[in-house]
Amino acid sequence: MIYKHDPASIQGFLEDTSNLKTGHTPGVFFPETTDDLTELLKGAPKEHRRFTIAGNGTGTTGARIPLGDYVISMQKLDRIGEPVELSKDKAYITVQAGALLGDIQKKVEQSGWFYPPDPTEKLCFIGSTIANNSSGARSFKYGATRKHISRILVVLPEGDLLDLSRGDCLADELGMFHLSLSIGGNITFQRPQYIMPGTSKHNAGYFSEEGMDLIDLFIGSEGTLGIIAEADLILIPLPTAIISCLVYFRQMDELFLFVSLLKDINNPVTPRAIEFFDKQSLSFLASKYPEVPSNSCGAIFLEQETTVDTEEKDLDTLFERMESCNAMTDESWMALDRDEQGRLREFRHSLPLLVNDWLSKQQESKISSDMAVPDGAFRELFDFYCNSCEEHGFFYIIFGHIGNSHVHLNILPRNREEFIQGKALYREFIAKVLSLGGTISAEHGIGKLKAEYLVEMYHDHGIQEMVMIKKCLDPFLVLNIGNLIPRAYLVTE
Ligand SMILES: Cc1cc2nc3c(=O)[nH]c(=O)nc-3n(C[C@H](O)[C@H](O)[C@H](O)COP(=O)(O)OP(=O)(O)OC[C@H]3O[C@@H](n4cnc5c(N)ncnc54)[C@H](O)[C@@H]3O)c2cc1C
Repeated sequence: MIYKHDPASIQGFLEDTSNLKTGHTPGVFFPETTDDLTELLKGAPKEHRRFTIAGNGTGTTGARIPLGDYVISMQKLDRIGEPVELSKDKAYITVQAGALLGDIQKKVEQSGWFYPPDPTEKLCFIGSTIANNSSGARSFKYGATRKHISRILVVLPEGDLLDLSRGDCLADELGMFHLSLSIGGNITFQRPQYIMPGTSKHNAGYFSEEGMDLIDLFIGSEGTLGIIAEADLILIPLPTAIISCLVYFRQMDELFLFVSLLKDINNPVTPRAIEFFDKQSLSFLASKYPEVPSNSCGAIFLEQETTVDTEEKDLDTLFERMESCNAMTDESWMALDRDEQGRLREFRHSLPLLVNDWLSKQQESKISSDMAVPDGAFRELFDFYCNSCEEHGFFYIIFGHIGNSHVHLNILPRNREEFIQGKALYREFIAKVLSLGGTISAEHGIGKLKAEYLVEMYHDHGIQEMVMIKKCLDPFLVLNIGNLIPRAYLVTE
């Protein structure tokens, strides 16, 4: 197994897309087989080693940045199998954790299959998306990654290999899991007793619900309970046609009405994605796309799966909904073929690049939120975000997954004072979101940057329940310490 410790090789592993700058490590291991992984973990207590698992570094929470621990890079475990058909509506594909999501999507689509999870950034590793239960625009229809995983092969922190298919191991009526492991022995632990928020997306802390499947404890546990080495992904038939469109509005009330019509379960048009851009996002985009109307207060991007037979009817329904909400129909952008959809995708993906370009000319980092609330509370949160930022005179943008009542608010500080005020306001947002029954992270996870806020969500006893599970599976505390569970709950140095 390759091991690198020269500064040039290590440098890239001290970064992700958070702005955390305190990473350091003695060196990076590059396992090429599952056996390499088990050997590394088996030897860890004797060698006094701790490990941070590295995916491809697109995470936003500093989760893969080591704070003194060794790094295990997953990049050489990158094999992608062939789709295996189970019925005409279902297939699966076996992949290793270091395979790129974009490569997997391309491969399955070439065979007429579809892997729905799509966390925007295609350069992430599939193992990370499972460890983080990633989600994206299409999660409005398809849910997060966990719904699309039927099996994982996990290397547990003591080096045991756990091959876990959905249905293999369920929590009993007391919420207990029982495992018999060759190295770890017989272990028993209880699922957390906290109630998860009633949001349609949630990615903060260990998953827990009555009768839950053990596979769901590992999915979303951010690498704190084991290394995902391999997984079986569930595939469905590739939709034959898509309608994509970007619809502009003059009034926020009309935009919100449009979203509620799209979300109405009786609505004949049932989009797979409903995304939002606020006025300031549009003004960033207008610097590259002059056709963006200057009198729009915001826009909704949507994607509707359709067929050649239903496309015309779906378009009629969509236009009817747009007109009924007084949308700026003439200025709106319809993309019905692959080329045009590619241009619209590029338009959407330009936003983070334009914002990053603006930020690169500033001294301060952005303050970004990833919170979601139950649908009924969304407008209250949205107005609270806007009013609070206006009161402070902040420069800010709001965009994202409005279908899931989950938008990203980014405060863009122009100086140190605004950064400090923005940080304080972020805490107020957390309190507001929790008071509305929401979650502090809907998709990006907790990592290192948000671990302190998890205590506000689950309180001391909720964190202690996670600590008990962590210590049961990782008694020597070797894996991803400082991620998700605040470091002080596990180590004293
Ligand atoms: C522009 C942009 C847009 C994004 N949009 C979205 C979005 O819409 N939705 C979303 O959910 N996320 C989004 N993200 C965040 C990010 O892409 C995801 O969190 C992704 O899953 C991270 O993958 P990675 O390979 O880069 O992981 P890394 O950042 O390298 O690691 C992330 C975490 O996963 C752990 N990990 C990695 N591999 C394994 C493994 N095999 N076993 C156990 N733990 C492991 C690491 O230890 C770390 O804790 C976005 C990021 C960017 C930059």
